[in-house]
Amino acid sequence: MKTLILKYAFEYLTGEPVYIDNAPNGLSCNCICPECGKQMIAIQGKSENHREWHFRHSEETNCKGGQETAIHKLAKQIIVDNSQIEIPGDTLNYSETRQEEKFQSVIPDVTVIANGRNVFFEIEVTNPVDNFKEAFYKNGKYKSVKIDLTNISQDTTPEKLKEIVLQQTNNKKLIFWDTTWSKLTLFCKENPKTALIIGIGVYLIIRRVWKIITK
Ligand SMILES: [Zn+2]
Repeated sequence: MKTLILKYAFEYLTGEPVYIDNAPNGLSCNCICPECGKQMIAIQGKSENHREWHFRHSEETNCKGGQETAIHKLAKQIIVDNSQIEIPGDTLNYSETRQEEKFQSVIPDVTVIANGRNVFFEIEVTNPVDNFKEAFYKNGKYKSVKIDLTNISQDTTPEKLKEIVLQQTNNKKLIFWDTTWSKLTLFCKENPKTALIIGIGVYLIIRRVWKIITK
């Protein structure tokens, strides 16, 4: 993350991340800095050029504004507020979303239920997902996905972030996923007749091939 133009703040009362375009101008934005918690001012100017709009601290400070913290929080919120996400090789429909809920010895960023099982999401903005957590998911065979946001720009809009989090797959990595087996069992459960017909077909083909080979 390079630029120091602050596009995000936290709404004082709710603690929700606010993008500069969506905040009331000036002090009435009622916003605080995601990093130091001090009051912020929305500077929207007269120009229609929203690229120049930004937040600044109401008093002089060396604080860098914690934009990573705001984007991390917003990314978690995006998963929580929706019910479908693209992951490598699959589209996941989910429900029962929870943020930062302890699971055994770890606190996943977001936990959801998909196909009757927990799926854990870890979002990297600055801090990489620690090795202990990754090993925990792998050893326990817990379905888990890492979302890499380390290369996104600090001024990414909430709309763009939503697309990046929910639609893109090249920024995601399956930490643990029992893909083939779970897909196969799910398909058989949902389409028992088709699965039976395919099964019989495959059996007949193999039997035929076997007879030809062993003639
Ligand atoms: Zn600050």
